[in-house]
Amino acid sequence: MFLIDYHTHSQLSPDADFPLAEMAAAGAAAGLREMCITDHYDRMKEHGGGFQPDYDWAPALAQYRAVLPTLPEGFTLRLGIEYGSAPVDPEYAQSMLALPELDFVIGSLHNRSEKLGGEDFFYGDYQNEGECYAALDDYFTSMERLVELPGCYDVLGHIIYPLRYMPQNITLDRYRERIDAILGRVVANDRGIELNTYNGRTIEPWRWVLERYRAHGGEQITLGSDAHFPERVGLGLEAGAQLLLDTGFRYVTTYEKHRPAMHRIEG
Ligand SMILES: [Zn+2]
Ligand SMILES: [Zn+2]
Repeated sequence: MFLIDYHTHSQLSPDADFPLAEMAAAGAAAGLREMCITDHYDRMKEHGGGFQPDYDWAPALAQYRAVLPTLPEGFTLRLGIEYGSAPVDPEYAQSMLALPELDFVIGSLHNRSEKLGGEDFFYGDYQNEGECYAALDDYFTSMERLVELPGCYDVLGHIIYPLRYMPQNITLDRYRERIDAILGRVVANDRGIELNTYNGRTIEPWRWVLERYRAHGGEQITLGSDAHFPERVGLGLEAGAQLLLDTGFRYVTTYEKHRPAMHRIEG
C-alpha cells in the first residue's frame, strides 16, 4: 500500500513536544512513503476570545530545512500547516498561507465562533445533549463558511472533529444534509478532504462521509493520524486506506506547493 501521513505535529505545535527529526524518523520507520508536518496555527485563542498573535514562519522553515538532508531514500517530507478558524479573519489566513515554501494546508475548525465565545471545542459540558448539538450547529455553520474560502485550505480537516469529545450517543445524523452540501462544495471548489484516524481511534465513522464525497465525484483525499508523539505516527493508516478502497477510492493525494498528485493505494 502507498501509505502517507498528512497530519502530524511537532514541538512547534502548542500541544506537542517532539522535534520534527523524531517525527520524521518515526514516519520512515513506519514504512510511510510520504509524510507532511502540519503544525497548528489557530487564529482564535483557545480561551477568552480574540485573535492569536500573527504566525512566525521562521522556526518552522528552519526545522524543516534542517531535517530534509537527513531523510532516508524513498521517503518524502512535505511542509504543511493545520490552520484553524480561517473564516474569522480570511485576509490574514490568505496572507499567512502565501508562504512560497508551503506545500499543504489543512483547514480546521477547533474553536466555536466568536458569537459563542471562540473557545476550543475541547472544552464543554458534553454530558448535556443540548450543549453538544449547540456546539455542532455552530461548528457546521463555520464549516459552511470555510468551504467557500478555497484560498485557505487544500483539504478540510477532520470534518467529524467535535465528536471526539462527546458521548457515543451523539451522532451526526441530523447534519447529514448539511455535510453532504459541504462535500459538494469541496468538489466544486477543486479541494479535498482528509480521513483523520485520530491515532487509529476513528475509522468506521468516516464511511458515510467518504461515500457521500465519492458520490459528489470527490477524488482529492489525504490520510492522517493526527500524531502528536513519534510512536503514534502512522496509526490507523492501513485501516484507513482499506476503508478508502472499500468506498471506491483507488488513489490517495499528496501535495507539493499545493499541487495535488494522485498515487494508487494498491501498487
Ligand atoms: Zn486538528
Ligand atoms: Zn492536528
